[in-house]
Amino acid sequence: MIQPMKILGVPVHPMTMQGAVDELEKRMLAGEQTFVVTANAEIIMMCQENAEYNKIVCENAELVLPDGAGAVWAGRHLGYTVPERVAGFDLYNHLLDLSAHKGYKAYFFGGAPGVAEAAKTKSEELYPGVQVVGCHNGYFKPEDEAEIIADINASGAEMLFVALGAPKQEIWLKKYRDQLKPRILMGIGGSFDVFAGKMERAPKWMQDASLEWAFRLYKQPSRFMRMMALPKFVLKVMFSSK
Ligand code: UDP
Repeated sequence: MIQPMKILGVPVHPMTMQGAVDELEKRMLAGEQTFVVTANAEIIMMCQENAEYNKIVCENAELVLPDGAGAVWAGRHLGYTVPERVAGFDLYNHLLDLSAHKGYKAYFFGGAPGVAEAAKTKSEELYPGVQVVGCHNGYFKPEDEAEIIADINASGAEMLFVALGAPKQEIWLKKYRDQLKPRILMGIGGSFDVFAGKMERAPKWMQDASLEWAFRLYKQPSRFMRMMALPKFVLKVMFSSK
């Protein structure tokens, strides 16, 4: 695995999208479990403020990828070579495409009732042949967790996508990873909502102009407080060193 760079103490692997997909497939075929975190500025800031979350991302996850313009900018600002942004939503799409071509099985866990199922339907439309072998919504009680884990394991899924939002999805994965059979474990935030048509992704030109954050703020003004993490992140990186 490529050496990680350190952004505010968080080890982030400067890989390309294809490099990340290849690495995940290789590890999966070797029977190794990989806990993937796509770290955007908000997640890196969460690591500064939440010791439990910091430990999960820095010590438990095997693969941390630079999601978002902020993470890529920070890496480059600190003097690392960062080939490109590896956004969680895009990696999720690439892995579904891999499933369609190679038959790997995926399980969708998270989102409001019905959303994972709607995301499954959309994936089948976008990636004919994709194997989504199970779904469960993300609004459960602690006493339901054993049953959810049993369902995931019984499905035979090799890839588990968990959409509970950060930090909940990573905390859940860390807690249960030893009991989970899938080899790829990945938190994907609101990605099922995008597939289910409940949330829009920024147009390509805005993504390319590093303006995805502005689009999200425009669509969901309630995110304002969460998005204050971004300017704080920029300032912190500017005053940090490698
Ligand atoms: N969610 C869930 N269970 C919870 C809390 C959240 O399934 O207990 C889902 C929620 O329905 C949404 C996703 O988690 O689909 C969080 O989306 P958000 O956009 O906040 O995630 P981000 O991409 O910003 O991490």
